[in-house]
Amino acid sequence: MTADLAGDLQTRIAFDNSYSRLPEAFFEPTAPTPVRQPRLLAFNEKLARELGLPDLGEDEKATFFSGNALPAGSQPLAMAYSGHQFGHFSPQLGDGRAILLGEVIDQSGKRRDVQLKGSGPTPFSRRGDGRAALGPVMREYLVSEAFHALGIPATRALAAVTTGEKVLREVALPGGVLTRVASSHIRVGTFQYFAARRDLESLMRLVDYVIDRHYPQARQAERPAQALFESVIARQAQLIASWMHVGFIHGVMNTDNMSISGETIDFGPCAFMDHYDPGMVFSSIDTGGRYAYSNQPVLAQWNLARLAETLLRLIDPDEDRSLELAKASLGTFMPAFQSAWLDGMRRKLGLFTSEDDDAALIQSFLDAMQGAKADFTIAFRTLADVLENAPAGLHENEVPVRAPAFSTWVARWKSRLSRQPQTNDEVARLMRSVNPAFIPRNHRIEQAIEAAVDRDDFTRFHELRTVLENPYADQPQFEIYARPPLQEERVLQTFCGT
Ligand code: AMP
Ligand code: MG
Repeated sequence: MTADLAGDLQTRIAFDNSYSRLPEAFFEPTAPTPVRQPRLLAFNEKLARELGLPDLGEDEKATFFSGNALPAGSQPLAMAYSGHQFGHFSPQLGDGRAILLGEVIDQSGKRRDVQLKGSGPTPFSRRGDGRAALGPVMREYLVSEAFHALGIPATRALAAVTTGEKVLREVALPGGVLTRVASSHIRVGTFQYFAARRDLESLMRLVDYVIDRHYPQARQAERPAQALFESVIARQAQLIASWMHVGFIHGVMNTDNMSISGETIDFGPCAFMDHYDPGMVFSSIDTGGRYAYSNQPVLAQWNLARLAETLLRLIDPDEDRSLELAKASLGTFMPAFQSAWLDGMRRKLGLFTSEDDDAALIQSFLDAMQGAKADFTIAFRTLADVLENAPAGLHENEVPVRAPAFSTWVARWKSRLSRQPQTNDEVARLMRSVNPAFIPRNHRIEQAIEAAVDRDDFTRFHELRTVLENPYADQPQFEIYARPPLQEERVLQTFCGT
């Protein structure tokens, strides 16, 4: 049966596994460990078509995306990487619970990794069991797909299965496997892996590979390694700004969780904040608040400095010169971030033009939100209604932007709007296209996980999947998913998948 399935797929999935053609030092060939009873929980048909996958039956999907059989052409492997975790360097991390099945060239000609997460131990697992609990699998599915719908670069979720096995965390939990699709799974930590081993040859090979795969224009530069570094900086500046625009807190921005391609990766203890608080932290392991909401740009820059260190010997033959150049490049991060942040914030306020005072206007809105403990998402979303003098909508009680505390600010904002040529209609349309009505709210994710784990009830999970596909549409039938949590529903801490 297994062999048949594999044979059947061979003619239809065109894997082209460039990573497995890299030298041995880059990975460990590792096959997934089969699970007892794979059951398909979710499958992303649209993404499957984008990847050019064939039509698969339910059983085939459950079989392949649990790792119970390998599609022909797959060369499964676990990738090697290191990482600074909360500031401390671990020279050897690697895929401890993930296995790359292979790469496909998608319909637009882009190379994409297809990876199982939770598919059993690998040589990099060390203490862990290589498995994932169902909860984190559901969370990653929902949040990564929500990112895609929001228009923010992120890894994608192709499939989720339950395994029919328990994984032991603090308690025994149902297990799951997620199939993750990424532009690649190369991280800052991949560079650190070879740098830590003083393996210059592999490092050069990695730089070459990354330039070919992600930043081909860097090849033409006078110093390709520096050009590569600057490209990564530019993507990360844009990415972190996008997170800030939607109130996202990654929670575990270690260098092994920073993708070289500029996609959001690793949805462990991440969360979107409800009420605005720049110091917000959710992750149970982030006790020092290192990765708090407002620290994210600074910490991204810190990670990029670690990347720079790995490239010093490759930027210029003269080491002092190299350091100087790397520093200059790193110096472009903050201005790039600030400019991306300001651009996006202008759009959130419906501003088409630029004025010197815009940053102050934005800051005073944020300050007012913080003072009023306003829900970040709803406050921005409601501004378009305020502009149109629409009757107070669904969230009257939670929306302080109509409250007196905001009236001075609203007047200032309206006078700013009057100095640009766009009509209120155009302004409102812009605002509704960038201020989501729906984000994957923590309490809703937790409720969906609880229903699944306790009662095998996936209704909420599928409802969330549906509503998060159109985050910028009003969808009144799903109004409950737009609401902030009630006091008793609030989730104050999130936990890693481990
Ligand atoms: P993360 O916190 O998800 O970024 O993972 C950090 C490191 O721990 C990575 O090298 C993972 O592969 C490894 N890891 C996390 N969970 C497990 C697990 N259940 N079994 C083995 N390794 C794991
Ligand atoms: Mg990770």
